[in-house]
Amino acid sequence: MRKNIVAGNWKMNTTLQDGQALISEIVNMVQDEATGSAVEVVVCPPFPFLSAIGRQLPQGGRFHLGAQNCHQKETGAFTGEVSAKMLQSVGAEYVILGHSERRQYFGEDDELLSQKLKAALAAGLKPIFCVGESLETREADETFNFISKQLKDGLFHLSNEEFDQVVIAYEPIWAIGTGKTATSQQAQEVHAFIREQIARAYDAEAALNTSILYGGSANAQNARELFSQPDVDGGLIGGASLKSRDFTEIIKSF
Ligand code: PEP
Repeated sequence: MRKNIVAGNWKMNTTLQDGQALISEIVNMVQDEATGSAVEVVVCPPFPFLSAIGRQLPQGGRFHLGAQNCHQKETGAFTGEVSAKMLQSVGAEYVILGHSERRQYFGEDDELLSQKLKAALAAGLKPIFCVGESLETREADETFNFISKQLKDGLFHLSNEEFDQVVIAYEPIWAIGTGKTATSQQAQEVHAFIREQIARAYDAEAALNTSILYGGSANAQNARELFSQPDVDGGLIGGASLKSRDFTEIIKSF
């Protein structure tokens, strides 16, 4: 069955010391306050902090470590890059792939993302695969076509067994870091559409079992409403994941 997940994408923020203070506050608050909820929490700090932050997460519970990217090759002469296997070896269980910032600033296209997905899965990581339309695409009434193509070209080449490991994040680009959140109806509409596409590409069971997260200016005020939608299984949180109180309140929103 699909899980409720709140994932925090720290992006290129914090120093090690700030990150350690942040995660220590989050762990304490969540353990004290979010006792009843069955939500899984994935923390995605920058690469250099993964080991240290991972050591601060209580083992065997709701907390999991994730990375923000990986290289598509397993090993080799790729100066400055980080492989999925390396991430797995320092305790990462998840990896964000296809984030719009990677697509936009680093030219990551569906072909490259397909390779990264394969590499992540081969290393035993669970990909959090991001899709989402620009404002221009939404205003042209092309959102569904666009999302459908991203899913088909980027993701649906996976086998059933591989696809079982994937979490999808719907992140409308116009809502990321802008303070403009999709309404819960807009989010629900696209999440339901994504689930429908999964059923077509795989089967009804796969559609039912896939966690689909919403991302884009989700915060402590709007999370409850977003998460109350039947096809919204949690959130991928950027800015608000850097504030321990806000992130904890989002986790408590289930
Ligand atoms: C993100 O970048 O994944 C994101 C959702 O950012 P924010 O919450 O800051 O909009």
